[in-house]
Amino acid sequence: MLRFSKHEITINEIIKNMNIPDRSEYLKGLAQTGQKIMGVLPALYPRELLWAFDIHAAEIWDPPGEILHANAHLQTTICPVVKKSLEFILKEPQTINAGYLFPHTCDSLQNLGTQVKDLIGVSLPIYTFYNPKGRFNNTTIKYYQDILINFQSILEASHGPLEPEKLKAACVLSHKIDTYLMVIQQARMTDHLSLSNHEYFTLMRAQEYLLPQDYLSLLEQVNILEKPAEFSRARLMVSGILPPLPEILVFLDELGVSIVADDLLAVSRRIPKFAMDPPGSPLDYLTDRFFVLPPCSTRGGDLDERVHYLSNRLKESKAHGLLFDMVKFCEPELFDHRLLVKTFRERKTPVLTLETELEDHISGQDKTRIEAFTERLFEIVST
Ligand code: SF4
Repeated sequence: MLRFSKHEITINEIIKNMNIPDRSEYLKGLAQTGQKIMGVLPALYPRELLWAFDIHAAEIWDPPGEILHANAHLQTTICPVVKKSLEFILKEPQTINAGYLFPHTCDSLQNLGTQVKDLIGVSLPIYTFYNPKGRFNNTTIKYYQDILINFQSILEASHGPLEPEKLKAACVLSHKIDTYLMVIQQARMTDHLSLSNHEYFTLMRAQEYLLPQDYLSLLEQVNILEKPAEFSRARLMVSGILPPLPEILVFLDELGVSIVADDLLAVSRRIPKFAMDPPGSPLDYLTDRFFVLPPCSTRGGDLDERVHYLSNRLKESKAHGLLFDMVKFCEPELFDHRLLVKTFRERKTPVLTLETELEDHISGQDKTRIEAFTERLFEIVST
């Protein structure tokens, strides 16, 4: 069982102690064995189909490093996720050998896909996947099934015919991973998980680059406490695209604040809202899984549904406040943000909004705002 100590160790040590391999070393090692690796941009895509073709999905959200060349191809008002991703692609990393996949998460990513394919000229194949927007209904179900079948045919053209039993096995594996993630998420909300903020999100984000079998093995080792831990800490829920910067997560730990629930596109918005039956027909399973994901700004739909979902999560996790960690220039998130803040303030939930360009440090101003916000949370804890 893994047991994770808190606070006094550095961020790199945390990752080492959790036996989570370094992303870059891990992917390099896989590429050297001849593993097919596709670079996948955020956020929703049928990972099971890729696995069935023996393609490993290495997700690209916020690659480290300075933006040097990407700016020449992009407007200044494009979000840092797109900028950092393009910078990464322009470096032509050796680890990515099976192409890039651009899901239609937002207009910026869709445009990036077109640019990379038609203008910038990358030697690897470029794939797109146009997720449906809006609610679950007969039209969106039919549309989703059509694009799954179409994506399968496109992959077959390069990787040979799909073996149906491999797709079934991939769905079973995906179902197991989801089941563990739901248990861990629930344990987090109910204090049955002895992990710091940074440890928790490192674990949740390791799925972005580990082989699914390796990720499942990691999840199987997580220690769920039999009894809830004694807590006097303030409890926080975070909403946005990515978890707050590692430095912020560590700072919150130092202040005595636990992130007990999240509404993050990279984390819980990709985990089904409730347990699904084990896969029968892969096509039905993949379709159902897409439509049982939590509401998300990038999939359109009803804002009331998001408010309802967030309220329930706040209640269930007993969070004392809500942090919106906004990626600068993220249009889908900005669209919902104003009304969400207004709604929760009216309900007397303490709300803090931070804006991030995915820099690698926390500003003095943000530190001060977080401290002031934390004091409000502790006032609630002590009343
Ligand atoms: S951060 Fe927002 S705008 Fe940028 S890629 Fe993600 S969803 Fe699109």
